[in-house]
Amino acid sequence: MITIGKYFFPKTLEEAYGKLRERRNNAVIGGGAYLKLGSKAIGTAVDLSSLNLDYIDEKEEGYEIGAMTTFAAVMLHKDLNKDFNNLFQRSIEDIVGMQLKNMVTVGATVYSRYGFSDFLTALLATDTEVKLFKAGWVSLEEFLEKGPKERDIVEKIWIKKEKGVYSFQDLRGSSSDYSILNLALSKVDNHYQIALGARPGRATPAVETAAYLSGKKLSEKEMEQAGEILAEELVFGTNGRGTKEYRRAMGKVLLKKALQEVSAHEN
Ligand SMILES: Cc1cc2nc3c(=O)[nH]c(=O)nc-3n(C[C@H](O)[C@H](O)[C@H](O)COP(=O)(O)OP(=O)(O)OC[C@H]3O[C@@H](n4cnc5c(N)ncnc54)[C@H](O)[C@@H]3O)c2cc1C
Repeated sequence: MITIGKYFFPKTLEEAYGKLRERRNNAVIGGGAYLKLGSKAIGTAVDLSSLNLDYIDEKEEGYEIGAMTTFAAVMLHKDLNKDFNNLFQRSIEDIVGMQLKNMVTVGATVYSRYGFSDFLTALLATDTEVKLFKAGWVSLEEFLEKGPKERDIVEKIWIKKEKGVYSFQDLRGSSSDYSILNLALSKVDNHYQIALGARPGRATPAVETAAYLSGKKLSEKEMEQAGEILAEELVFGTNGRGTKEYRRAMGKVLLKKALQEVSAHEN
């Protein structure tokens, strides 16, 4: 159970940040869905919902998405999904139900760097940057690896438009359960970007596998070889959902499915 001492609606991000940093037990509230799963005594809850951070702005070069934007808004945004051939829709559609998707937020998901996250894996196959209120812009890759230097607030993210082919693959024990493993892949101008999440550690890029594939014509043999590189390159772990051996084997399968999708898209 969570308890909340005071509930605060800041008028500006400056005010939100000031309140967050006043006491260690103060906390930002996004959708509040994940916080409620835990047990925490929150001093002051800093609710961002009156700061106009719920938006998806399309610009010529990319998409700016505010921290309070819900998963439902991302999943249903036609142009965003068209530009990334349904990468984001695919990463979100199997997460529980529509009611949850109408609550959970982009900012909370990015800030919390959940290992099981499907959306973060999808973002990591794109060129995405994160705007922290105090620390400023940082690449998603660096943020996922290092986290914030000190407590901060995610204000928005920026996803660069890049014309290419995108694929999201996941493995779940049953529909709407957490992913046992997930994989996102992009191919832009013969250059691949691959991310693997729920290993069960947080999403990480498969740099060597991507480098191996870049510029190659996709044959059955190349796909198999890329799978072998992937299995060696990343660290897989064991938890209640699967063993590291299972995840390593399934990583090859998800990669092959993604590459087959890319190949089919191109032919
Ligand atoms: C029952 C359930 C099932 C789920 N299943 C999946 C799944 O299968 N796949 C998947 O990818 N995800 C899943 N999720 C996670 C979900 O997608 C969200 O990532 C998660 O709920 C966080 O969003 P929220 O808005 O609820 O965060 P909150 O609960 O509001 O906050 C979570 C944490 O982030 C902090 N925070 C919130 N907003 C910000 C901000 N802007 N800046 C800095 N810190 C902030 C809060 O202080 C808190 O520590 C599930 C969540 C729930 C509740």
